[in-house]
Amino acid sequence: MIKENIEKVEKVIDQVCEEIGRKRSEVTLIAVSKTKPAEMLQEAYDTGCRDFGENKVQELVDKYEVLPKDIRWHMIGHLQRNKVKYIVDKVYLIHSVDSLRLAEEISKEAVKKNVSVNILIEVNAAGEETKFGTTLEDAKQLVREAAKLPNVHIKGLMTIAPMVEKAEENRVFFQQLKKLSVDIAAENIDNVSMEVLSMGMTGDYSVAVSEGATLVRVGTGIFGERNYSVSI
Ligand SMILES: *Cc1c(COP(=O)(O)O)cnc(C)c1O
Repeated sequence: MIKENIEKVEKVIDQVCEEIGRKRSEVTLIAVSKTKPAEMLQEAYDTGCRDFGENKVQELVDKYEVLPKDIRWHMIGHLQRNKVKYIVDKVYLIHSVDSLRLAEEISKEAVKKNVSVNILIEVNAAGEETKFGTTLEDAKQLVREAAKLPNVHIKGLMTIAPMVEKAEENRVFFQQLKKLSVDIAAENIDNVSMEVLSMGMTGDYSVAVSEGATLVRVGTGIFGERNYSVSI
């Protein structure tokens, strides 16, 4: 089932890339495996998947310990500063940096452990009250400030679009994020590249790919519905 689901999602990405003339190699599928047991991740791994997304520090660390070491772990959930120390040397990319204080903490722990950490700035493009992330307006200033921190590299932007009936409704937010990333790239800030755009989930990843996503985060579409009432 997982294998078929991954193939289906990959095929949709192939098709969108072909339609709009994008290189397929520009887009990477992240399997969002939160709440799912390690065996299911192993199954996805065995079909070739190497990028996994988790939103809880403890869960990411537990899975990191038991799964193959060539997995690229993506921290996609809200990150508390006191937990940064557990993951800085384990994650490939932190998608959810939305304050200078958090970026400073990541930098501090990265220096301590002598690693460098790749981060994205999370933008709340739709301005939803229930979501984390900077506003579109504040994102630039945060990038400029965080760019000065040692052992942290800003690779791009991330957004979580609203839950909508039709994926098309989110196109405008993906366009806004893309435009912001082009604007920031034009500033040529030291230590900042805008090569990554993390946007699109099960409901809207095809629209996100058509608007320039380089990372799509798909959970339900690969692993099925999540059940939060059972602990892993
Ligand atoms: C859970 C989650 C996803 C995946 O959501 P699906 O709708 O199951 O694909 C993507 N991004 C973030 C930040 C998430 O927390």
